[in-house]
Amino acid sequence: MKDRFDVVVVGSGAGGGIVAGELAQRGRDVLLLEAGGHYTAADFTRFEAKATHELFWPIRFALQADGPPIVLLAGRCVGGTTTINTKVALRVHERDVAKWHEATGLTNERGESFSTGDLAPYYQRVEQRLGVRERTDWTKSVYTVEPGFAALGAGLEPVHSYTDVNCMRCGSCLQGCPTNAGKSTQNTYIHEAWARGLLELRANANVERVLVEGGTATGVEYSDAAGATHHVQADAVVVAAGALNTPQLLTRSGLGGGAVGRHLGLHPVRLVYGRFEEPQDAHMVYPITAHCMDHQHDEDGGFVIEATTIQDPIGFATGLCDEHGPLWGKPLVEAARRYRHWVGVLAMVNDENNAAVVTGDDGSERFDVEFRPSEHERLDRSLQFSRDALLAAGAKQVLWSGLASTHVQGSCRMGDDPERSVVDRNCESHAVKRLYVGDGSLVPMTLSVNPSLTIMALATRLADHLEAA
Ligand SMILES: Cc1cc2nc3c(=O)[nH]c(=O)nc-3n(C[C@H](O)[C@H](O)[C@H](O)COP(=O)(O)OP(=O)(O)OC[C@H]3O[C@@H](n4cnc5c(N)ncnc54)[C@H](O)[C@@H]3O)c2cc1C
Ligand code: SF4
Repeated sequence: MKDRFDVVVVGSGAGGGIVAGELAQRGRDVLLLEAGGHYTAADFTRFEAKATHELFWPIRFALQADGPPIVLLAGRCVGGTTTINTKVALRVHERDVAKWHEATGLTNERGESFSTGDLAPYYQRVEQRLGVRERTDWTKSVYTVEPGFAALGAGLEPVHSYTDVNCMRCGSCLQGCPTNAGKSTQNTYIHEAWARGLLELRANANVERVLVEGGTATGVEYSDAAGATHHVQADAVVVAAGALNTPQLLTRSGLGGGAVGRHLGLHPVRLVYGRFEEPQDAHMVYPITAHCMDHQHDEDGGFVIEATTIQDPIGFATGLCDEHGPLWGKPLVEAARRYRHWVGVLAMVNDENNAAVVTGDDGSERFDVEFRPSEHERLDRSLQFSRDALLAAGAKQVLWSGLASTHVQGSCRMGDDPERSVVDRNCESHAVKRLYVGDGSLVPMTLSVNPSLTIMALATRLADHLEAA
């Protein structure tokens, strides 16, 4: 088996899939290593437990000292989390990027504060390649809740997403898109290069450590599905294992300390459900066609609401809460019986990167979070707003899920200041030459919108840099 490449990329999600695909299509000799399996649309079925087992990391939790644990969700398969996400495609707001320079001193090539202008050409390329389009095809459940937002003086508007016209609004985005309408990095960047023999892809390959000689990254060590250990050499190593795993891999390689694993942003989210008299069938929709941006910025509340969706039955029934805590017994059974009547809205809250990835000496992982009062206030406000909107829309009962994070970011962030960041503006490690980070870990401060398009833009920028370097 070949063991020498120009570039080895660890992780095939939003970041890694794009760096690998871009470079392979430009003629670079690239190896893409992915810890999860290689499942495609031919394998995907709406079988919640099976998909969660095959396509997701086993559920992990961020622990609060004095609060309930926060569920961490991420994909573990070729395409990473883009294989099981809902494909909302939003550019970052200038106000979010302004926080980046403040956090890490990040500047652009001209030494100016990094801005959305520095990302614009990369956004454009990704949007074109993924066919980003507006979703105005709202289903009944969106129209059901819309008057509730209007009653609060707010509004719903269509989202943009990387889903093409073959989207049958089947609702199984989290189990992998069966029509390939949903554009993961797998069915775009990766397959386009891999199917033409331009990219070497090894799935079920768990990278254990980055190899470093004399301050320069020289390759990686990984174990395959049978447990055998392999070494590969490369001129550049790109770690794109996701914001929960990238810092662990660096620490296991003896490259921890400093900002590695610190400043993890969770962009915490909660589903708030309203029960309506009429069946709504919110499980048979493209999950997010609309959003409310009226409270996006911290000074306006600091949250974005997405509409409308509902978890599949296992997720729905295992997470329901009301003001007394988790639902049990008869109230839970009654709620589950009326499954078709519930409509969920997703309340995503701005946070301040107060979580951390902790890697033990024995390789164990732990995730800690301590929200500040300002973050608790935003969480409370977003819940109250969502409840009020659903009740104003005519919901007979409102319940909600516990907190989760689907948008982890910032645990190996980019910046000019090595004290507060792990990599420089070109995503190259401050400590080790030819070692790059290429995933959501880079984002210096949590975005107020879904992050994948920005991660993809940063990855495209990194691919350009690697090609030129
Ligand atoms: C349910 C859900 C819905 C979402 N919906 C949206 C949405 O609508 N819009 C949006 O913008 N964002 C959405 N997101 C978030 C978005 O998908 C992620 O932010 C994005 O995919 C992160 O990209 P990444 O490259 O950082 O990591 P990932 O995409 O998670 O990729 C990391 C990859 O690295 C692999 N890996 C980890 N460790 C190793 C190792 N040691 N060796 C080899 N491989 C390894 C992982 O298995 C994984 O495949 C959603 C997330 C979830 C969970
Ligand atoms: S709703 Fe659309 S994008 Fe989602 S899985 Fe179904 S066909 Fe794919």
